[in-house]
Amino acid sequence: MLEKNLARTKILVTLGPASAREGRIRRMVVAGVDGFRLNMSHGDNDTRRKWIRLVKKVRRELARPVAIMVDLRGPRIRLGELKEERRLRRGEEVLVSATRKEGRGGVLPIDYRGLLRDLRPGQRILLRDGRVELKVLEVIGRRLRCKVKRGDKVNSFQGVNLPDSVVSAASLSAKDRADIAFAVEHNVDWIALSFVRTAKDIRALQRTLRRHDSTIPICAKIEHPLGVENLEEIIQETDSVMVARGDLAVEIGHAKVPIVQRRIIRTCIRRATPVVVATQMLESMIEHAQPTRAEVSDVATAVMESCDAVMLSGETAMGQFPVEACKVMHDIIQQTEAEIFSETWRLRPGVERLGQGRGEVGLATANAAVFAARMARAKLILAFTESGRTARLVSSFRGNLPLIGLTSRETSYHRMALIWGILPGLIAKPRSVLEMHRSAADILTSNRWLKDNDLLVTLAGVFSVAGGTNTMRLIPLRILREAN
Ligand code: PEP
Repeated sequence: MLEKNLARTKILVTLGPASAREGRIRRMVVAGVDGFRLNMSHGDNDTRRKWIRLVKKVRRELARPVAIMVDLRGPRIRLGELKEERRLRRGEEVLVSATRKEGRGGVLPIDYRGLLRDLRPGQRILLRDGRVELKVLEVIGRRLRCKVKRGDKVNSFQGVNLPDSVVSAASLSAKDRADIAFAVEHNVDWIALSFVRTAKDIRALQRTLRRHDSTIPICAKIEHPLGVENLEEIIQETDSVMVARGDLAVEIGHAKVPIVQRRIIRTCIRRATPVVVATQMLESMIEHAQPTRAEVSDVATAVMESCDAVMLSGETAMGQFPVEACKVMHDIIQQTEAEIFSETWRLRPGVERLGQGRGEVGLATANAAVFAARMARAKLILAFTESGRTARLVSSFRGNLPLIGLTSRETSYHRMALIWGILPGLIAKPRSVLEMHRSAADILTSNRWLKDNDLLVTLAGVFSVAGGTNTMRLIPLRILREAN
């Protein structure tokens, strides 16, 4: 029963006016959604406060692990305020300035103070997800004279990308700092940072979180060429990664995205770092009840590449079929995984890491658990995991057995919802090893995940010490109840 309903790849969806109602949130969770993202680029705090309350209510009532992610705007550059929508035509010349409002004579405002510092003649300015391309011809005083290479309509506050320049904007703006305070106040489960370029950006966020006495894990959004280039050093600092394909495609060109996606996923799995694939996964479902064949293939590809989670954006934030999109996504995941798990396990990335040593006791113990579970034909792996780390290490092998991550911390319980293959379980803080084992046995029995004589593999560390996983046991459920 456990195996049949299990989706290893998790679903993260973006909340918006189309989805942020109690009934819809409930239907989405029932349809298989594991986490909700709040995009801090849009909306106001009163609305977001209400949305967080709704998600928390639903997850409590359904007794399900559901993660809440706050997504910071970061150094995202936008157009300033235009008097009205404008059409820029190919071949025409426009003046651009680093201001918040459209100037006299139709000077195009870009709301970024470092614009003139960061741009040189010959470099590109992309507007509206790359639909409009400007080329800088020269700097005239405090303005840039640009030629329109590709034209279309533009409007206030649309996104601006500078793919040829090293954007020197600080990783956290005043707005981001206020949004971090909001995230901490509401005790959200993940915090994502847009336009991460180097490990320094992550360290800046870590410092700010520490000042708030917070340990919310970070998701680094890779959507800038420098983020791709510096992925290894970013992974050393971050807790997870997002392949943010919307801006990534604008910055590096569409054609490179599939390969970069694959590379990022592989690198993350090798480093046991959870990775989300995002944007335009079922885009046509914003307006239609059915996805296109290409979209189905795109989701299935991400699943076959073994990412931790797939994400919906406009589909659930402002689309006409938010719940249907979640159902479609869940269905694609289940159908694809059924095929993956009928193949030999060696085909999956992650498994190739078995036996690779990096001198880490926790990883070695997780490796042993995955290997032993397979040899002994155990029915599942159970990780006692206070922070969620041990379960994450086991997950990174992408094995085929169900994996329970059992914790007494509610924060870890909801955070684990977004990690590949982990079924989070919540227990009361045990006072002894015996009590911990009994609680585990109770959960496995009451959910009918195992029968008394079924063998399972447990992973644990020194009792009450976080981060010290060093013990693996092969044990039948009935013995677990008494084992000390
Ligand atoms: C993206 O650009 O793909 C992305 C996920 O970022 P956002 O939705 O915040 O623009």
